[in-house]
Amino acid sequence: MHLAVGEGLVGTVAKSGAPLAVQHAQEHPDFKYFPETGEDRFASLMAAPLAVRDVTIGVLVVQTVNPRHFGAADVELLQTCGQLLAPVVLNARLLELVSGSDDDRGRFVDQLARAGVPVADGRPSREERNVELRGTAASTGIAIGPIYLLEDPLDLARVDYTPSGDAAQERSDLVRAIADARRELDDVIDEVGENFGPEFASVFNTHVQILEDHGFLQRLERAVAETGDACQAVRRVVDDYRALFGRIEDPYFRERGDDIEDVGRRVVAKLLGVRHRNVPLEPGSVVVTSMILPAHFTMLEMDKVAALVAEHGGATSHGAIFARTLEIPSVTGVEGLVRTARPGETAIVDGTSGRIYLAPDEALLAEYRRAQQRFEVAVGHLDALRHRPAETRDGRRVVLSANVGLLADLRLVERHGAEGIGLFRTELLALAHRGAPPEDEQEILYERVARAMAPRPVTIRTLDLGGDKAVPNLGLEAEENPQLGCRSIRLTMRHEDMMRAQLRAILRASAVGNVRLLLPMISAIDELREVRRLVHATQDELARRGFAYDPALAIGIMIEVPSAALISDALARECDFFSIGTNDLTQYTLAVDRGNEAIAHLFRPLHPAVLALIDMSVRAANRAGIPVSVCGEMASNPLAVPLLVGLGIGELSGTPRAVPVVKEIVRSLDSGDVTADARAALASGTVQEVEQIACERLERAGLLEHPDIGSWLVEIVSRARQG
Ligand code: PEP
Ligand code: MG
Repeated sequence: MHLAVGEGLVGTVAKSGAPLAVQHAQEHPDFKYFPETGEDRFASLMAAPLAVRDVTIGVLVVQTVNPRHFGAADVELLQTCGQLLAPVVLNARLLELVSGSDDDRGRFVDQLARAGVPVADGRPSREERNVELRGTAASTGIAIGPIYLLEDPLDLARVDYTPSGDAAQERSDLVRAIADARRELDDVIDEVGENFGPEFASVFNTHVQILEDHGFLQRLERAVAETGDACQAVRRVVDDYRALFGRIEDPYFRERGDDIEDVGRRVVAKLLGVRHRNVPLEPGSVVVTSMILPAHFTMLEMDKVAALVAEHGGATSHGAIFARTLEIPSVTGVEGLVRTARPGETAIVDGTSGRIYLAPDEALLAEYRRAQQRFEVAVGHLDALRHRPAETRDGRRVVLSANVGLLADLRLVERHGAEGIGLFRTELLALAHRGAPPEDEQEILYERVARAMAPRPVTIRTLDLGGDKAVPNLGLEAEENPQLGCRSIRLTMRHEDMMRAQLRAILRASAVGNVRLLLPMISAIDELREVRRLVHATQDELARRGFAYDPALAIGIMIEVPSAALISDALARECDFFSIGTNDLTQYTLAVDRGNEAIAHLFRPLHPAVLALIDMSVRAANRAGIPVSVCGEMASNPLAVPLLVGLGIGELSGTPRAVPVVKEIVRSLDSGDVTADARAALASGTVQEVEQIACERLERAGLLEHPDIGSWLVEIVSRARQG
């Protein structure tokens, strides 16, 4: 039966939006009798509109057989009930409509439109927005490609789920996931209600309502039967709902679609359990995220990532370092990025200047395509010269090696002419496994790297986890200050089985190549002694079991905590080499979180205090007759290179692509000049003074006119000169 708006008493309330109470309904001038309602038994009527944001979507009616007078309090109560019930009815109606025909949907959308809720009739057209954003240049190079927005919540469209192949299993998995999601929502409601009040919890009541809706559940049931894939079923049903709600322009109504998507995500998350997710990307994608995390490198297909751009984070966060290691252009700390970037839209990423352009026009695109080509030609040109030695004009030799973390990186080592591996970060394997990597996999990896590089050295660092390299399944407790907490060597020494497994794998690789063992984050002599004891015990164990290893394996330590630099004389007597980690050394010396973009301007590796600690460590190493290298980002920073050489550093280890650039710099220097520069820098009071000394040196060495790297250096120098 259809009752038009304005027709009869109920229709009048729908039209006017005002409540109505009549003792003798049939005597009212607007009364209209419809035999199919059987309303003739009722004498009195009270009605209140069901309104959502002033749009009447129905009428709530109370009728009595005996005549009754409804007072103001009754009317008020009914109105309140109407307000509370209206969203519930709306949700139910929307849910129901998805199962209906296109005609039904069209009618409903028309009704909404007539009721003043505008409905979109098409998708927005693509535009050239030319939005320019700026951040911190974290990894050089230019990339142009479609944006992939790596959202923090589970992305339903891209979640990688492999169905079991058994439709009945998929159905029962889905039922279990729905029940789990339902239980989780109950907990959420309790928690949110308790912490923030019931009005905050009510949004989750809507989610419960969706999860209990028969139409929703039936559609899921049908979809899983048809697809034999629980995840696909959720996706399909959510998409159907979204398609309907997406046509509604009014944001309030559109948000109902977001609720359904949220519910879908919750169910899929339960479905996946602890299953690892992968993100299938279009080749050449510009991945936009809120923060580049080491975990992303195992989640994304990195060969399809053209650039990584993040709203937060500094250039020395581990995520940014991994991007550099993999030679992926990257910009971090780009304010407003996640809000502004649109998935699929073209973006230009300039990892050298730290600029991002969203939806650029053709002219800008063409300009950047040319720049991209120039950059690649320059890199190619430098690579072609890779066999020239890295030595200063007056013949002082500096070893240039590479920091890597994957087997695939070895081709970069060869391409750019690195002389060895100065730092092999073993964390990526752990991140890929989301926990302690299996010993046999470690063995295979380290042996392959050692063999491929032999006789060149490979410096393998024990797992440097914790801090911003959080790994699940290690029983790590949440810490107030993770960078100052149980990270790195502190963590591995707490998990002796894990440490011993890694030491066995490294020691066994030492039998087939030139392997050195590097211990991160040593801060006291006891720590070094304890690890050495464990290394010797592991060597004995291997000998007993008949496995080969290098008995003279060099054991070195990272100098990356100020205390280590301050006691470097004592440490140098008990280890075989130093490797200075300037990223952490800067972080801990200046008390500046390396990953916090809000204080990124204070993260200054050229601070005289950092240089003083480097100087102290070099002198201690020289006195003990052990080699000392720098493996932090400073080793590939053009302003730092002359000063590090001047301080007496004999080896610089940086990202593979930095090797040819650093070589060009070293080859234009004179060791006497840079030694004098280093002394002057140590005597300086400010970073600015130190940077001026470095700029002057690059200029005097003629590097600003260098055909391949000149324009890049000019930019760096002018930025430094502006402060
Ligand atoms: C450093 O701290 O400088 C270093 C090389 O180690 P990581 O960046 O991996 O902490
Ligand atoms: Mg470090």
